[in-house]
Amino acid sequence: MRDVVCRFLLTLLLCVFMIPGEVEAAPSHEIKYITSKVVEEDGNTFLRMEIGLSKGAAEYTVKKGSILHPNRLCIEIENTKPGDVQNEMRLDPKYAKSARVRGLDKNTQVLFSLAGLAENEEYSITTIEADKKQKKPFRIVVDIYESGYVRRGFVDGLKGRHIVVDPGHGGTDRGATGPSGLLEKDVTLEVSLKLRDILENSGAIVTLTREDDRDVWGPTATDSQELQARSDVGENTPGTEVFLSVHCNAFSSESSHGTETYYYYGKSWLDELLAQNLQEAMLEHNGLHDRGVKATRFYVLTHTSMPAALVELAFITNYEEEALLGDDAFQEEMAMALAEGLANYFAVSGT
Ligand SMILES: [Zn+2]
Repeated sequence: MRDVVCRFLLTLLLCVFMIPGEVEAAPSHEIKYITSKVVEEDGNTFLRMEIGLSKGAAEYTVKKGSILHPNRLCIEIENTKPGDVQNEMRLDPKYAKSARVRGLDKNTQVLFSLAGLAENEEYSITTIEADKKQKKPFRIVVDIYESGYVRRGFVDGLKGRHIVVDPGHGGTDRGATGPSGLLEKDVTLEVSLKLRDILENSGAIVTLTREDDRDVWGPTATDSQELQARSDVGENTPGTEVFLSVHCNAFSSESSHGTETYYYYGKSWLDELLAQNLQEAMLEHNGLHDRGVKATRFYVLTHTSMPAALVELAFITNYEEEALLGDDAFQEEMAMALAEGLANYFAVSGT
């Protein structure tokens, strides 16, 4: 009898302790590891990311791109803690620049910064069940392909766009001169011609204010006649959506360096957005000092009615940057950057 009472009391005690409370359960999964490797399969090369989770299958949702982060692919894994994995991984930039792990209240996000716009990128997400024999846990597998976006000389998202490119200076106006004698007018023309090739190859309709070494208005033009002639190309070319003027920066001190972009604040919010996208893309490609996006009243920006920006690729008066500006591969890289900046602008502006 005493035995029965004891057992009864014990059961009662256990019941009290086992009544479910209002306290929310902590996330039950945990990321055990994230691996990345470049895989070749059936003639396709892609980046394979494996996210291994403890405790079996977990639910997840996928979000891609946003106005602020058009290159982002976000996988949110429910009821999961970040675990001990590195919170930022550098990846092969052909596919994606990085993967970041961010723990939320109950869920964990894995954020990929893709090489191109998430909208246009090709990727696939699958899951693999745990495999006890191989000692592998449940995995979410993300394959990221090298898409057309990163193909040399082709940028997605520019098809049918009308763009006017203005190679700064030319003819009698040499622009600034570098310490080794490099002329701004030659750099701006080279980069603009390369940019035109990429844009046209990507399906855009491109007009240059000049295609060779000459003054646009004529050799005897005043400054404002010359700049008006350039603005007129933008105004008089039907359907112009963007006017982009390409320049190199210059200063009396050789130590000034870096990249900057100008826009006119009095037109519309699109001008600033355009400048931001161009600046961001240039910095991604050239790795130079970020001098920022600046509002100003340059002639070609105030005398064009469509969104316009003036980029200063780098300082021609800085010895190292002059060497870059004169280098064919660097010019090509900057042309690619400007094309990407334009594509990003069109994607986020919704125009
Ligand atoms: Zn200039």
